[in-house]
Amino acid sequence: MKNSQHADETTPSPGGKKAIALFSGGLDSILAAVLVQRLGVDVTLLHVQHLWSGGEGARRKIRGAAARVGLPLRIVDTSEEHLDVVRHPKHGYGSAVNPCVDCHIFMLRVGKRVMEEEGADFVVTGEVLGQRPKSQHYGALRDVAEESGLGDRLVRPLSANLLPETLPVREGWLRHEDLLSLRGRGREAQLALAAKFGIRDFPQPAGGCLLTEKAYAARVFDAFAHLGKDSVGRDEFSILCIGRHFRLSERVKIVVGRDEGENELLAGFAAGRILVMPSPEVMGPSALVEGDPTEEELHVAASLVARYCDHEGDAPIEMETVVDGARRTMAAKPLGTADPRFAEWRVEDRALRARRAPTQ
Ligand code: SF4
Repeated sequence: MKNSQHADETTPSPGGKKAIALFSGGLDSILAAVLVQRLGVDVTLLHVQHLWSGGEGARRKIRGAAARVGLPLRIVDTSEEHLDVVRHPKHGYGSAVNPCVDCHIFMLRVGKRVMEEEGADFVVTGEVLGQRPKSQHYGALRDVAEESGLGDRLVRPLSANLLPETLPVREGWLRHEDLLSLRGRGREAQLALAAKFGIRDFPQPAGGCLLTEKAYAARVFDAFAHLGKDSVGRDEFSILCIGRHFRLSERVKIVVGRDEGENELLAGFAAGRILVMPSPEVMGPSALVEGDPTEEELHVAASLVARYCDHEGDAPIEMETVVDGARRTMAAKPLGTADPRFAEWRVEDRALRARRAPTQ
């Protein structure tokens, strides 16, 4: 068997076969799809969209990348069903709240579903053996293929000759000598292949999604602990991306916008929550109070928001609260910037303290 590193001389395979290529828009996913397409396979790109995969800007880039390689693209929105992957990962979390193994299996399952819908024969990914030591070692790639239900219908063309033989190779739809043996984190072989295929415009490798960020994870775990995992839905996960988060008590949390865009976003989530903002003559942020605050807690929340208002001195500011459309005003003295309760309430600081607390 020839063990090709560079797919220098590819020959179209017997035609008529269709593949679904998982497509992140990154170079490896582009190369895997183009390589298989150049072997005579009818390739459709599949981008699996979820809550943390980026908004319209990210999708525009995906469409642009697909157009540049001239392959049809399907974008499948899995935002709702993917939430359970984050709430209940069978394989646990990575270093933050990133359920990468389960997320990966989930995407392959979506790939399988689309493969069946489209009458395709196999699924392609741009994974490279050993590129991510924890999740892309030999055993992990094999297990993920099995657990996704794809088994030997999953082809990783960039490392295929280092992995168990797949159905497309066994059946002669793809040939060993046209597939690659890439391993590890190096990029030279991919860049050479990109040049050979005439692919010039591609993004630099990016880190993980927002779920890999520790500050976001602290907010998510706080919400899981106080609301219960299954009560943290799309809106809650979205609010966790915005503003400054302060937990005033076990029941009550306040989210303060950091700029006009965030103030508007928060106002859009006001249903079922309390919106707090300064009266129109004072410049300042909007905030959402979640939970069922006592009158005293609501005053503390208003004082906390007042601290971020454009106001000199510590004289009370007139603040407005809106509950189910009902508006009322209250005078709130801004909290001092050195008030130690800020660190006590800030969700990220609470998580840090909890991690440092001695265990019994
Ligand atoms: S980094 Fe985010 S999108 Fe990527 S596999 Fe992990 S959880 Fe999923």
